[in-house]
Amino acid sequence: MPIYEYECKACGFISGHLVMKPSDRRKLACRSCGGKKLRKVMSRFASHKTEAQRLDEFKPSDARSDSFYKDDRNIGLWAQKRASQLGLDLGESFQETLEKGRSKKILDNL
Ligand SMILES: [Zn+2]
Repeated sequence: MPIYEYECKACGFISGHLVMKPSDRRKLACRSCGGKKLRKVMSRFASHKTEAQRLDEFKPSDARSDSFYKDDRNIGLWAQKRASQLGLDLGESFQETLEKGRSKKILDNL
């Protein structure tokens, strides 16, 4: 599905739009304020992606760039990928630790 993200130049709201043909582009409007001036957003880590999608697209061999590690949402992704490949259940406490790490709350417990 050709879904692209557009940022509203008026209010900064980012919304995903289905664009099948060039004429669709002209009909786009911001879902927050209705503004027509939208800028296409090129984001490697689109915010609307689900964790399952991120996990699916994640390749350990790509995990060496700095930008990957700077993205808090990728914390623990490697472990999750390995575990799913090995058929391991990491359990709820692991998931909890991941969520804490991703939201930086883990620092409060150190
Ligand atoms: Zn707007």
